[in-house]
Amino acid sequence: MSRENVVWVDGVVCSTEAAGVSPVAHGLHYGTGVFEGVRCYATSQGPAVFRLPEHLARMKRGADALAMPFDEAAVTGGVVDLLRANGLSEAYVRPLSYYESGGLSLDVAPLHARHLVAAMPWKSHLGSTEERGGVRLHTSSVRRTAASAVPPLKLCGNYVNAILAKLEATRAGYDEALFVDEQGYVCEATGENVFFVKDKQVIAVAHPDALPGITRATVLDLSGGVERAVTLEELRDADEIFLTGTSAELAAVGTFDARRLAPGPVTRELARLYQAAVHGESELSRGWLLPISAS
Ligand code: PMP
Repeated sequence: MSRENVVWVDGVVCSTEAAGVSPVAHGLHYGTGVFEGVRCYATSQGPAVFRLPEHLARMKRGADALAMPFDEAAVTGGVVDLLRANGLSEAYVRPLSYYESGGLSLDVAPLHARHLVAAMPWKSHLGSTEERGGVRLHTSSVRRTAASAVPPLKLCGNYVNAILAKLEATRAGYDEALFVDEQGYVCEATGENVFFVKDKQVIAVAHPDALPGITRATVLDLSGGVERAVTLEELRDADEIFLTGTSAELAAVGTFDARRLAPGPVTRELARLYQAAVHGESELSRGWLLPISAS
């Protein structure tokens, strides 16, 4: 079993193959699961996980929505055990809890949940776009699932909505899709929250249907920016636009529909501050990092 080819499943580190998934797993058929995207960074104290309690608190809210038992302490232990076992100094970490067995009824009461953690090397999924002059962002015709229909948490099945928007964007030659609601308010991208800069002020888009992003909260702390509702019209007039997410980190938008934007100085400076924070080189980030070796 190669060191990287391991996962943590309900208390045990095993090979990916040994983990197995039933062809009649409830989560496979209906998307009845909740996941997180977390990152582990190299720091002067060795590998350390960024804001794990915040990620697992959000995951717990998703599990509660599905009436699924979820033990934050056990999954924290799983993340640590897995990262010690795989020896990765930097990794993208994926805790996933889903209904595995107990039938295919839509009543979840009799079902049994499984909790697992996977980890892999993964650079920013929008990272390569930086070299091409920033993310090419496309205003989607697909609407974001309303919070009144599915709570804005990382519930597995709800990602089909994001995937449909992403498909439309990539087919049109863009990298990423922007959700806008019926009233013309900006919501979020498929896997990132949206920020913009106008006259040097940093503004985080606020929308009830958007995921409450942990990178967004971090960047608000680092920038002293404000959050508020933003119309598409206002975003079109921005000096700089950037996207935030655990996987994407802080990604400058270089094309917004037909408009070209130069990745600007405020975005560049915040990206630098964010990298310092996640690598433990900032005063602010001390309480945000869980070292794998010392815990
Ligand atoms: N919105 C959506 C839909 C996402 O999937 C993500 C990624 N988790 C984000 C925003 C950014 O959230 P975070 O900064 O917590 O990763």
